Amino acid sequence: MTRSRAELEYWDRHHVWHAFTQMQEYEPLLIERGEGAWLIDVDGNRYLDGSASMWCNVHGHRHPRLDAALAAQAAKVAHTTNLGLSNPTTVEFARQLSELAPPGLDRIFFSDDGSTAIEAALKMAFQFWRQTDPARSEKTRFVAIDEAYHGDTLGAVGVGGVDRFTAMFAPLTFAPLRLPPPGMPDATGRVPSLGESLGVLEGLLTAHGHQIAALVMEPLVQMAGGIIVHPPGYLRGVRELTRRHEVLLILDEVATGFGRTGTLFACEQEEVAPDFLCLAKGLTAGYLPMAATLTHGCIWDAFLGIHSAGRAFYHGHTYGGNPLAAAVGLASLEIFHAERVLDRLPAKIERLATHAARLAMLPGVGAVRQCGLVAGIELVADKATGRHHPAHEQRGRQACEAARKHGALLRQLGDVVVLMPPLCVSEAELDCLAAAAEAGIIAAHSAGHTSPRR
Ligand code: PLP
Repeated sequence: MTRSRAELEYWDRHHVWHAFTQMQEYEPLLIERGEGAWLIDVDGNRYLDGSASMWCNVHGHRHPRLDAALAAQAAKVAHTTNLGLSNPTTVEFARQLSELAPPGLDRIFFSDDGSTAIEAALKMAFQFWRQTDPARSEKTRFVAIDEAYHGDTLGAVGVGGVDRFTAMFAPLTFAPLRLPPPGMPDATGRVPSLGESLGVLEGLLTAHGHQIAALVMEPLVQMAGGIIVHPPGYLRGVRELTRRHEVLLILDEVATGFGRTGTLFACEQEEVAPDFLCLAKGLTAGYLPMAATLTHGCIWDAFLGIHSAGRAFYHGHTYGGNPLAAAVGLASLEIFHAERVLDRLPAKIERLATHAARLAMLPGVGAVRQCGLVAGIELVADKATGRHHPAHEQRGRQACEAARKHGALLRQLGDVVVLMPPLCVSEAELDCLAAAAEAGIIAAHSAGHTSPRR
């Protein structure tokens, strides 16, 4: 039975509680189909998928190889549990992932979303110190970076640092030790040097290292914090310091993984191998929910023992290691290879940089930050001083809503407009995306002080 758009919109408003959305202001947009980097609504309007369907789509929508892999696996079995059972597709995926991962990360715990990949890493790190020989049970604390985002489950919220997402739930979470985001101006407006940023970490580890289980961070760029790009050398410095102070390093590559920063994993750029690598989003090219927490044999060994020793990792999710997701993940790795996806990125990154430089000149744009194929355009009330707009004006949201009328779906982070298309985007499509963003930003700048919609 075909439903009218009006019916669907009514039910959408009435029944579907959308993520990160004020439902009182929500206006439905019903996407029915996808084709490459484009999404098509129920009326046939086409939009460039400027947020890669929330930072996860890699090779585009309806990629024939991904669709075929899904169908082939569905013809065998859609889901079986990985609690004590296995299936050939997931095993093959784990093997291939471990070959592509930074050296040593060959033990893989599958879950279903970025947040759950982080939860698993936090709990594994905590349990590791209680079971290593000799045990270091006093190592129970975590270090996290301000403005970090690691997901919305409570452990992930605890190590998150974007106030508008976490402040409400602070009483429910544990408090990590915090570091200022490197590369961002401090309270006096000065950007600390790399040495100063690493010096803060060294001081913290010297004082508290004996109590710290792990440091968790997004490598190279903090996405949800507003595309905060770290200075080169920071990640490598963190690895050296954490190793020296016997603190485990958890890298959250949920958003940076699978090519977004120009390499398959961001940590490759500083030749860093963490103790835990958390992957999700692009792991299945944006097709299905699946996440992975990769670690090395030294961590794994601390969990071994006879059943009665109680050393196993008592943690898991129903759909962990789902074979449909694994089949798509495998096909995605094939596409990376067959379509030379990473080799074709530099030209696209360069094209985005050219547009970013132009957008930076617009009135109302205070800063533009780019890392690989993602750029954040920060809207400000005063270009000279960098003064922000009052939050209630929602200029970022206004810009993204206006960009829709110019054929692009964008998503803002506060007043930062984010350009993060699928990696398959062509240079011509990047031109369309930037033009739509530009039109949206100009509209938001001249919109005055009214809120976008009541
Ligand atoms: N970590 C990072 C860096 C993210 O950007 C996100 C989501 O945007 C998450 C974790 C949480 O992932 P999920 O929404 O799949 O739980």
